[in-house]
Amino acid sequence: MLYFVFTVDGDWDEYFRPHGDRAPDARRIMPLIDREIDFASRNLGGRFIHFVHASPVAGDFFLGSGLISRWQRIERGGGSIGVHSHEEDPGKLDDSITSLSNGLKHAGFLPIAYRGGYMAFDAKSIPILEANGLKLDFSCDPGRHLVRNGRTVSDWRGASDNFYRMSREDHRKPGDSGVFEVPLGSAGKTKLYPEINSLLSIWAAAKALKRSAADKDVIVSVMAHTYDFARSGMVRKLKWTLWILKKYGRFINAEEALELIRRA
Ligand SMILES: [Zn+2]
Repeated sequence: MLYFVFTVDGDWDEYFRPHGDRAPDARRIMPLIDREIDFASRNLGGRFIHFVHASPVAGDFFLGSGLISRWQRIERGGGSIGVHSHEEDPGKLDDSITSLSNGLKHAGFLPIAYRGGYMAFDAKSIPILEANGLKLDFSCDPGRHLVRNGRTVSDWRGASDNFYRMSREDHRKPGDSGVFEVPLGSAGKTKLYPEINSLLSIWAAAKALKRSAADKDVIVSVMAHTYDFARSGMVRKLKWTLWILKKYGRFINAEEALELIRRA
């Protein structure tokens, strides 16, 4: 069987600006999150993951009461809340992940899903996820190799294009850690990432994934961002993407993915 997890990274446009005020503005981001929740509810019966953004720029903005009530709406609707750290100082990653996880737990959530900003991840991230009960990682983009200012941000060369239990020594290899990887859906050069790929190439990728799932369970993610919901053209493209993918597989949330992986 083929399963998809629709994932929305909770990032906003200004965050990616090189200069100026990059902090989230409540009056701008709240309506976008509302649109995202309504979109997931209408198109997926609410089954998706919203990855809550953590970074020095955001501080504890996303743990404020107006946001917590939105995360509660997502869970009530059948979705999941995950942790998305954009901390770029490797020495502060543990703090960033742990303080957001704890903040969410304090508000009554039990997050189990993680995705690194820019798909950043390495073996040193694994014990941090284990310590926080984050059993599913969604940072893998098979084949991705991103180096910035001489530092490796993300290296997924040779990683599997289906779920696997991660090795403690090498995050790209199967092993016996407490963290399972659910990669971004991909086939050839196409990713299930409507921001960068055409609907036709996504359609072809969906067919290829369906073939690969003929004799086993395949679970992959589909990637979007909160900022997509500011653009009506992008929202339409996301809608068509989901319409196509629903012909080939079933959409599930984080808890359902973990259950399927444990049974496999
Ligand atoms: Zn992000």
